Amino acid sequence: MLLELKKVFLVENEALKAEYELDLHDMDFNGTKPLKTPIKVKANAVNRAGVVNLAVSAGFDYSAPCDRCGEETITSFCYSFNHTLVQSLAGENEGDYIETPDFTLDLDELVTTDILLELPLKHLCREDCKGLCPKCGKNLNLGECGCDLREVDPRLEALKNLL
Ligand SMILES: [Zn+2]
Ligand SMILES: [Zn+2]
Repeated sequence: MLLELKKVFLVENEALKAEYELDLHDMDFNGTKPLKTPIKVKANAVNRAGVVNLAVSAGFDYSAPCDRCGEETITSFCYSFNHTLVQSLAGENEGDYIETPDFTLDLDELVTTDILLELPLKHLCREDCKGLCPKCGKNLNLGECGCDLREVDPRLEALKNLL
């Protein structure tokens, strides 16, 4: 969605709200396409004392296999972002400033970039996911498999044989 912000830039206290759904189901992240359902985007641009502020919220479900056990897991996120919009950066290179020389802003691109920077690199079905047994591959969240996973020190083993 393109935001036409000319009026907001030119008139103090002027505001522009937008609410829409952004489809990113084809976007690749960490080798999966986790954004299967549309992102619910809300944006609010306000001119306060001549400075245009943009507040964006993005709510979405992130679905990907758990990093430890491989179980498909959906987590809901709601991110909020704030940016200051300027017509020209004029040497200001702070990350939160966004240049909008022709008063239009590509909101899709902005939301996509913001989300990509925030997405978790670790994705677990639950905090204490037990993962898979390294021996038999059983999902240990579903119960113990009975494998003996104690590390055997070969030196101790040799000693045991001597005794
Ligand atoms: Zn898991
Ligand atoms: Zn096992």
